[in-house]
Amino acid sequence: MMMLSVNHARCNNCSVLRSLCRFDGVVLVTDSTEKLTGDLTVLKAAIVEYAKLDAACGEEIVVLHCPKLISQRLVFSPTGPLNRDYDDVRRFSDAACAGVKRLVVSKFRHKYMYIAQCTHCNVPWFCTRALCRDIGGSDPERMTPPRVYDYVNKMFINSNVKVTVYNLFDLRSLIKTNPFLPPAVVSRHRGHLIELEYVGDGPTSNTLFLIGKGITYDTGGADIKAGGGMAGMHRDKCGAAAVAGFFKVLAELKPKNIKVVGAMAMVRNSVGADCYVSDEIIRSRAGKRIRVGNTDAEGRMVMADVLCMMKERALTAVNPQLFTIATLTGHAVRAVGPNYSIILDNGPARKTQTAQSVQKAGDQIGDPFEVSTIRREDFEFHKGKSEYEDVLQANNLPSTSTPRGHQAPAAFLIMASGLDAHGRDSDKPLPYSHLDIAGSSGPFPGIPTGAPVAALAGHYILGQVARG
Ligand SMILES: [Zn+2]
Repeated sequence: MMMLSVNHARCNNCSVLRSLCRFDGVVLVTDSTEKLTGDLTVLKAAIVEYAKLDAACGEEIVVLHCPKLISQRLVFSPTGPLNRDYDDVRRFSDAACAGVKRLVVSKFRHKYMYIAQCTHCNVPWFCTRALCRDIGGSDPERMTPPRVYDYVNKMFINSNVKVTVYNLFDLRSLIKTNPFLPPAVVSRHRGHLIELEYVGDGPTSNTLFLIGKGITYDTGGADIKAGGGMAGMHRDKCGAAAVAGFFKVLAELKPKNIKVVGAMAMVRNSVGADCYVSDEIIRSRAGKRIRVGNTDAEGRMVMADVLCMMKERALTAVNPQLFTIATLTGHAVRAVGPNYSIILDNGPARKTQTAQSVQKAGDQIGDPFEVSTIRREDFEFHKGKSEYEDVLQANNLPSTSTPRGHQAPAAFLIMASGLDAHGRDSDKPLPYSHLDIAGSSGPFPGIPTGAPVAALAGHYILGQVARG
């Protein structure tokens, strides 16, 4: 079986199509048979013939006889017209999924399955998404911090991605003072920071730093998630899973002239005698005194010092761009719904239009983003409220009940990590963008989507690979 997701803007004459006839089942996805050119014209004749009998051909999924194929069976799954204001590339994946389901219903017994991704030839989305699914979607005992490390290590063992791990005891000396959560009493849940590094061939022209939130289970800590809100919280590691997924793309495509440093902050937000509690004041690596307002706002705490470490490295890097990627707030889902990532730029990233570029790449590849803006109220919200603290970590309401509940945490990360000293007004501006994937990471129950790997890869890797 072969699934063709045909994007005519890109895939005309794609070499994948030349081998079309050797597959024993084909699903064709297109918005118009008029666009079938090259090898695809063999399918067009069969569709034109069939349309004489069935007026629904072109509007509904049909299974038809195609003598040119080994199986003689073609599933034609039309997208329908794509010219409405709100149509986007996801119409192709919707039609492809529906077509494959129809093929299964037709009792077709496939000998083997080959999923062709015609958009930029041979992008390894299949294994990338599997990796995001395994780390992000597996249950909290199967993917504890040390087990995530074992998995990542195995995944990249014979690749050009270097994997380094620090457990929480290493981290204490590495970060010195840190708001990383206190050690889990149970050793199998002990926090790990997994660092990944890829250096492409040739001189580096871009350096990316990706920091992923990897909460293997979020109980909420001592401000515990009550009233049934805890189920599904093993998914709070999808940001870290996406970081690993992006390195899978790097390992497969080996782009030149780019250096990428990834950090997966893996930790369990547990309740116990040692757990952190509200009112505590913790000094961050950047020297800020942070007052804990709610222990359920652990994602920003876990990423703040890692972002600070990466900021220090970014100062000497070539053309750096920092990212945090996190299933951070319920507010993100409330604001834009369950299918969209949100991107927020700091001043220097706004200057280079990082958000708009990533959004554009995401639109082309079916990994859509909404652009949101960090405002002065967000910084005001997180300013210390008394002389004891510099920064307030959170209020004590859920983000969904907090105005600007997904924007303000980006300001917190900037303040707590010391990135506020690297804004547009500084001698050393550092572009930083925060990605909230709480909505786009996928449903529970269900399978993680791997967002925002495709959009980031589209922007930073695929253009270069296609040109090269
Ligand atoms: Zn939480």
